[in-house]
Amino acid sequence: MSVSTSTGKLAAWAGRHLLIVGILGTLMALGVMAISTATLLAARNEAVEHAHETSRNVTAVLVSNIARTFETSDNSLRTLIAALSKPAVQNLDPKSRHDLLFDDTPAEYFTGMGFTDSQGQLIDGCCGRTHHWNFSDRDYFTVHRQSANVGLYLSAVYRARSRGGVEAIALSRRINRGDGSFGGVAVVAIDLDYFTQLLSRLDVGPHGVTAIVRVDGTVLARNPPLTKAQLLTSSNFKRMVNQDSGFYAARSSIDGIVRLYTFQRVPGTPLIAVVAPAESDVLAGSRRMSWMVGISAAFISAAFCAVVWLLAFSLRAHVKAQALLTELTRTDALTGLKNRRALDEFLALEWARLHRNDSCLSLLFIDADNFKQYNDRHGHAQGDIALKRLSACIKRHVRRLGDLTARYGGEEFVVALPDTDEAAAMRIAEAIRCEVESGRPHGSSAAVPPFTVSIGGATGRRGSPSTLAELTNSADSALYAAKRHGRNTVVFANAVATERL
Ligand code: GH3
Ligand code: MG
Ligand code: MG
Repeated sequence: MSVSTSTGKLAAWAGRHLLIVGILGTLMALGVMAISTATLLAARNEAVEHAHETSRNVTAVLVSNIARTFETSDNSLRTLIAALSKPAVQNLDPKSRHDLLFDDTPAEYFTGMGFTDSQGQLIDGCCGRTHHWNFSDRDYFTVHRQSANVGLYLSAVYRARSRGGVEAIALSRRINRGDGSFGGVAVVAIDLDYFTQLLSRLDVGPHGVTAIVRVDGTVLARNPPLTKAQLLTSSNFKRMVNQDSGFYAARSSIDGIVRLYTFQRVPGTPLIAVVAPAESDVLAGSRRMSWMVGISAAFISAAFCAVVWLLAFSLRAHVKAQALLTELTRTDALTGLKNRRALDEFLALEWARLHRNDSCLSLLFIDADNFKQYNDRHGHAQGDIALKRLSACIKRHVRRLGDLTARYGGEEFVVALPDTDEAAAMRIAEAIRCEVESGRPHGSSAAVPPFTVSIGGATGRRGSPSTLAELTNSADSALYAAKRHGRNTVVFANAVATERL
């Protein structure tokens, strides 16, 4: 089979199955859309995953900075307490003791460092004016006085009275006397501004947020800063309190922006470092790509779909036109009966079937008598009408499915009657002849000028005659015999008698 034949068959099939082709095309287009959507979703997840990875690194750096600060502070406190426990230091005069204890330049983030007696009275300190402050009201003082086992304590946020009320937190340790009783506290103060500066070095996008919060919901620092002090109580915040670290996406209760929160507890402290880029910033790149890919995929899919449907419709129209053309080449224009070409094909098939099924096939050759004269007398147009009447008359008598009536040419018609023996075929032939002779064909209102027909018939069976040509010749000869016998007669080739009923 050649390629063009296969293509032609495929096109013909497609033309006949418009719905299947259209639906297949639509499914393919939907498939393209589904693949595009899946790819875009994968790209989106990848962007979120990448943002999470970056946030985790940033959070880890932040946490390690804070932890190092606290460690340094704790070391300073331990050194101070160890020095104070030495009798030599205790016996020094205040000035010498101050020089000894606070001589080293304190870490840049220490905004205050000192120690109190058991009543909370500041004994000595650095980093600012030394006043006779009393810190017995501070939470860290109360905590250490009540318990000897607190260790390093991180206070709540307070307003430093020694520095004009700026917000700060304190890291503190208890000072024990020789007998283990409470002897005061050593304290390092760190202004919240230190944490704000830490956060300002981090870049988490135009709508991102970084923050350091206490587990009680107090916001130590936030970038961008809050307009008023805020205590976090949302369910999102509770998640952070209950885990050491984590990641989640949520809408901020403060500004309503959806952010991807990564948080981590500063080990051994009640502080949580939070890094939260805005989802819109994280997905900005993939959103642009989504629009481009989405619109392109939708456009291509829609165009593909339209082309498939258009093609399917035009193929169907083409197949229909082809079928109509084929039918026209097998149809007689004047009478609408099958033409000789269709008859030849039909006879070849029936002849083969006859031999397979061991049945019979009868042929009737019908010819209008003296039709030349008829035309001469009544005109060619009237002759045409008569031929149409004759074809209608034949069709009325040849009604069985599987029979075929054809215009053989001119004023000659052929009827092929499969599975019909001589007797049945002669009855049909005689009925046709009679109706034409009557001059008023059944069902017709106006009579045409009378004419008659001669009919020759023949019946073939398996092996008799041996060829289809012989069978048609026999029927044709019978027709000539009918003419010879005076016309308006039915003659059967192998019938014993020539009848004029
Ligand atoms: P016979 O009885 O021997 O068949 O004589 P006949 O005149 O019918 O036969 P002949 O073969 O001499 O002439 C056939 C005529 O049929 C010639 C032609 O004018 C006429 N005829 C053939 N086809 C048509 C047609 O389509 N329309 C009309 N009106 N006449 C046709
Ligand atoms: Mg004739
Ligand atoms: Mg003729």
